[in-house]
Amino acid sequence: MQVAVIGGGYAGMAAAVTLAGQHVPVTVFEAANTLGGRARRVEHRELALDNGLHILIGAYRETLRLMQLVGSDPRLQLLRIPFTWIIHERFSLKAARLPAPLNLLYGLLAARGISFGERLSAARFLLHMRHQDYALPQDVSVTQLLDEERQSAGVSRLLWRPLCVSALNTRPGAASAQVFLNVLRDSLDADLAASDLLLPRVDLTRLFPEPAAAYVEAHGGAVLTGQRVTAIDQSPDGYTVRFTAGEDTFSHVVCALPPQHVGAFLFGISALAEVAEAIDRLAYQPIYSVYLCYPQEVRLPAPMLGFDSALLQWAFDRGTLCGQKGVIGLVISAEGEHQELAQDELARLAHQELQQQLGLLPSPLWHRVIAEKRATYACTPALRRPEPQTPLRNFFLAGDYTASGYPATLEAAVRSGIGAARMILNSVSRDS
Ligand SMILES: Cc1cc2nc3c(=O)[nH]c(=O)nc-3n(C[C@H](O)[C@H](O)[C@H](O)COP(=O)(O)OP(=O)(O)OC[C@H]3O[C@@H](n4cnc5c(N)ncnc54)[C@H](O)[C@@H]3O)c2cc1C
Repeated sequence: MQVAVIGGGYAGMAAAVTLAGQHVPVTVFEAANTLGGRARRVEHRELALDNGLHILIGAYRETLRLMQLVGSDPRLQLLRIPFTWIIHERFSLKAARLPAPLNLLYGLLAARGISFGERLSAARFLLHMRHQDYALPQDVSVTQLLDEERQSAGVSRLLWRPLCVSALNTRPGAASAQVFLNVLRDSLDADLAASDLLLPRVDLTRLFPEPAAAYVEAHGGAVLTGQRVTAIDQSPDGYTVRFTAGEDTFSHVVCALPPQHVGAFLFGISALAEVAEAIDRLAYQPIYSVYLCYPQEVRLPAPMLGFDSALLQWAFDRGTLCGQKGVIGLVISAEGEHQELAQDELARLAHQELQQQLGLLPSPLWHRVIAEKRATYACTPALRRPEPQTPLRNFFLAGDYTASGYPATLEAAVRSGIGAARMILNSVSRDS
């Protein structure tokens, strides 16, 4: 058996680690020179930035497990903060160190920035969802659910809406209420640590994909970067994979490409035409990251701060997190008018908004804007996502867009990779 894993993002590397750990010969093909895909290091002025500022949570069980397995200690590489939701000068909620759901209920009742009536209604909403096991008879939009549950404009704007956009990268009016509830269930209503926020202290390539590659190689596998796959053809022995430096034949394929690139390979294979069409129907949402570098003494009042402002949603203090003093990373999730702006103009407006929020700041020494136009698929109600197991024998899909209860996140990607690898391991043990 020889397995080709195509794509060296979090899904592909999770699949490769799982297979290599069971002594299965595996080769990863990654088109870019840097592993990580949509969660990767971007070098800028000798600093290791990321293509996008990421938040992990304690519920990312499989990501944390694999990080540990490949020698990237989550306790050192991530800053763990008990669930705290701070919208600068508008709202703050801190989960209490109590078992769920008391942690959040207590936090909600003690939250600052909304009236007591709004706090009560938010707590009632959570209890109601809990009572029905966070399952809806029929998926609707998050806005519709919040309206049905009589959530006020204030609590929606300061809590539910930013939670929805952060987790689903889709605005509440278009976002799946069921997936939103799945996230609430598994993060805020699980064990105490599940709701913790985990902020990377190293770049996203170093966090997992690089140590994962070292692990795969130490277990006899190969990780080929700068090797773009150009075709996957069925052959008598399995699959012939054509890539930058040549071609090779494999018994199994884990296709861990981003969804917008998968179709090009699948449309040529008649058994996969339906899968390709389902992937083709996905719509996408952007995420913009704006890095502003100020003089070293500029700091945020917290490592991560939310804003109730026109443009910016989150700010990260890269000095506190990863020693990049004076560098503030800003996040603008989901679609909006900012997409029409030139990058210099966007950086100028981001600096202006930051000043409105924090007070006078010196001019940035430099800025860098990274626009991920297809950051994630749009997580809309009742969306049908492709299954990892395809009608084609020994050909599996992995990636954050494959069927699961989760939105497009690192954990969804990692779980899908592990899932595809386990299907291969199970099929081998069945056949032997
Ligand atoms: C800006 C941004 C912010 C985000 N924030 C968060 C967050 O805070 N928390 C969170 O959990 N998630 C976040 N996400 C989502 C998360 O990054 C993704 O869900 C996850 O990285 C997807 O991993 P993947 O392996 O499924 O796909 P990808 O990362 O897209 O991996 C696919 C890989 O395939 C490679 N590839 C493409 N074509 C070829 C080819 N022909 N041959 C070989 N290789 C090829 C690509 O280079 C890439 O490395 C964010 C995403 C973005 C873009």
